[in-house]
Amino acid sequence: MHVRLVETLQPHSTRPGRRETVAFVIPLYNEEEVLPVLIREVEAYRAAHPEVTEVVLVDDGSTDGTASLIRSLTEGRPGYVLLRFSRNFGHQLAITAGMHCVSADAAVVLDGDLQDPLDVVTQMIEKWRQGFDVVYGIRRERHGDGLLKRWTARLFYRLFQHLTDVDAPLDAGDFRLVSRPVLDAYRQIEEHQPYVRGLIAWLGFNQTGVFYDRPPRAAGRSKYPLRRSLRLAFDGIASFSVRPLRYAVRLGLLVAALSVIGLVWVLLAKYAFGNTIPGWSSLIFAAFFFGGLQLFFLGVVGSYLARVYEEVKARPRYVVRERWVSEPAEASPAAGREPETARVRS
Ligand code: UDP
Ligand code: MG
Repeated sequence: MHVRLVETLQPHSTRPGRRETVAFVIPLYNEEEVLPVLIREVEAYRAAHPEVTEVVLVDDGSTDGTASLIRSLTEGRPGYVLLRFSRNFGHQLAITAGMHCVSADAAVVLDGDLQDPLDVVTQMIEKWRQGFDVVYGIRRERHGDGLLKRWTARLFYRLFQHLTDVDAPLDAGDFRLVSRPVLDAYRQIEEHQPYVRGLIAWLGFNQTGVFYDRPPRAAGRSKYPLRRSLRLAFDGIASFSVRPLRYAVRLGLLVAALSVIGLVWVLLAKYAFGNTIPGWSSLIFAAFFFGGLQLFFLGVVGSYLARVYEEVKARPRYVVRERWVSEPAEASPAAGREPETARVRS
């Protein structure tokens, strides 16, 4: 029987006679301080690596002068696209919108604070040329982060692996290269609270990693306090696992079983041995403990329900208020694709 390939998500780079291109996707939230250094570094990198034809900067609703600074710093430099969100939609949606916009053959997602070193990008591009579709950066050392952040992050990645069936690499953040087929596949995902690193792992394709040491921020302050990190962690687990709900069921059954045993014991104590329990402290402890436990798991159930609620509302995931390109669209190879819900005014 004759078997032929009818359709494939073919990387553009494999098409003969075509120069492969790479885009940077950089989310920015109140990053005024680091922007001059960032653009300087990116320009230096592009001078040595002309395959980087496109730089998508996503201004995630900054309240400082980030957007206007981007415009003045990139003026006259080819290949820059600025997406301005109408408000702060969060890091994960900023990355998502950036990836939707990329028109190059591959995209490298990196933080605006230069905590994701550009020399690692070169290794990523190399791996991509060898045929990998996803090349993620694995954090070996995290020089810039405090002890609490390092340990909670470490713990989280292990918990995520334990609780979900997704084969997500340990200690890899959002710093990664993704090829055109992966970008196209990612476009089809319509989750409202995307946990990007989990979704990319879930997509499959040929994935690999490169190790790197994470330097401290180049300037400015972290936009991820513990509270936000915890939310991201819960989003990640909740979007890939229903196991916490199952644990709630099991724990509930266990507590019910224990209470039956306790009841038997109490009845025996009263009618067989005749001594009633005088201590109220044990009672009050039990009341608090199980009350707290119930509230906790009610919260877990509620969070899942909230996710369902978010998904059914069918609102746009992000709103782009303006889209700027640093050169006239015809002249620039990197006019960028339309973001998902573009309300383009410029
Ligand atoms: N960021 C964003 N929206 C947010 C929070 C952060 O676009 O709501 C960007 C931020 O500007 C930076 C990147 O996401 O480029 C990573 O944030 P940050 O460096 O503050 O996180 P950390 O490295 O401390 O985990
Ligand atoms: Mg950072």
